[in-house]
Amino acid sequence: MVSNYIGGQWVASTGKLTVDVLDPATGKILDQTPLGTLADVTAAAEAASRAFPAWRATPGVDRVQYLFRLKTRLEAAVEELSRLITLEHGKTLVEARGSVRRAIQMVETACAMPSLQMGEHAEDIASGIDCSSVRRPLGVFAGIAPFNFPAMVPFWFWPFAIAAGNTFILKPSERVPLTSVRIFEILHELGFPPGVMNLVHGAKDVVDALCTHPQVKGLSFVGSTPVAKHVYTLGTSMGKRVQAFGGSKNVMVVMPDALDPATCARTVATAIESITGCAGERCLAGSLVLCVGEDAYQNFQRQAVIAAQAIKIGSGLDPHTTMGPLISQAAKERVEGLIARAIQAGAKILRDGRQGVENLPGYFLNATVLADITETMEIAQTEIFGPVILLAKTSSLEDAVRWINALPLANTSTLFTNSGAHARYFCYHVDPSMIGINIGVPAPMSFFSFGGTKESFFGDTKAHGKACVNFFTDTYTTIYRWYNQGEIWQK
Ligand code: NAD
Repeated sequence: MVSNYIGGQWVASTGKLTVDVLDPATGKILDQTPLGTLADVTAAAEAASRAFPAWRATPGVDRVQYLFRLKTRLEAAVEELSRLITLEHGKTLVEARGSVRRAIQMVETACAMPSLQMGEHAEDIASGIDCSSVRRPLGVFAGIAPFNFPAMVPFWFWPFAIAAGNTFILKPSERVPLTSVRIFEILHELGFPPGVMNLVHGAKDVVDALCTHPQVKGLSFVGSTPVAKHVYTLGTSMGKRVQAFGGSKNVMVVMPDALDPATCARTVATAIESITGCAGERCLAGSLVLCVGEDAYQNFQRQAVIAAQAIKIGSGLDPHTTMGPLISQAAKERVEGLIARAIQAGAKILRDGRQGVENLPGYFLNATVLADITETMEIAQTEIFGPVILLAKTSSLEDAVRWINALPLANTSTLFTNSGAHARYFCYHVDPSMIGINIGVPAPMSFFSFGGTKESFFGDTKAHGKACVNFFTDTYTTIYRWYNQGEIWQK
């Protein structure tokens, strides 16, 4: 059973119940996650609070030395961590390596915190009066992560939080705790001061305790929209800062010019990879392809089926695999149910991914292609989180934008086109706040801010980039007036 890491030590959870950690490619039990309790959160919050004064007083340039060392250590551990991610999550090794690379980039950007955190100063705001503002850490922050990116998502938050002088409690997904455990072993080996970084395993009870614990000043949550809403509501009701990232329904619009002979192959490959990469278990995964005009629609349907047929499912550890399994049997059955109900509602099945997986031991689905999707179908409204390519036709770019903006979820949207005028129209008008132009997964890098809007994000300060400095610090402003300016001022 995995242990908590509190105050610089590995300790057993007080939780009595456990969840099995499964290899989704085989269904075999890898380990067990204890479902922690308020007592675990209290122990972690107290350790983090005790560590805060000395960590805050450590010069920023010294704090980030831990992160510089971590960056070097993580570079050496890319392969080990990637294999662990593939083992407990199922995604391919190539995909796992990409996610570890993104995690390392977060550490690199957080190393700039001494300059990102700098305040402001103005002389003579009134006669003989100066003013300065500093960005100060708040205390203990907590991060609550989903299953789909065991390494990367926690790194969206904690390197920035601790670089700014806060201390941190991480609660990873109970379904994929092993990568976090290994990362904390690395933090321990690098000598991070006790209490600066703490790990507590669990599920709802731990999350609710973090949302209400008086010593926790702020929370970063990533997961499904209903839980994001719950965390935001509960955390803010307790006076905490909360940023809560929820689910998505990402639409990609294909203009006829994106299917010209010169660009067609890239457009199709980019769109299909967006939907089927990580078996569709990405918050930035495309879901619905809206083709503008009949010719584009017919062409894309043919290409989508060919592309889906070329995807090779299997264990993510096998280098020939291009798509791994879903996370669990329940996830697989949920996606199968969505497909079945879409067909009943009138969707045309061009490729049925439920077939050809009967003899595989894990939670596999082949890529499915469904056409003639209409706006009101359940599958057009719901986050699928599986490799299902939805196709629909629309009459114009304006109508595609209207379709996108009618959706409550608004994480990303993409336009495939060669036209600058169409691209600008799209960027100007779509609601989702992460936008791709000929990019299927428009994930902002560590030095830009990340996050959707509407039902995909609850809060006002997004992840990483410059925005996160505001989230993890508070401004303290001092106005100075010195009455006795001394002889030097009399000359
Ligand atoms: P989830 O909401 O089931 O779980 C997320 C976290 O919340 C986990 O740590 C879990 O233990 C905890 N949790 C679950 N139920 C809870 C409850 N009732 N009360 C309190 N805590 C609870 O999400 P998941 O299935 O792990 O992850 C998939 C979801 O995450 C998808 O909807 C996906 O879009 C979303 N996601 C969003 C982003 C983003 O940037 N917007 C990024 C990654 C994943």
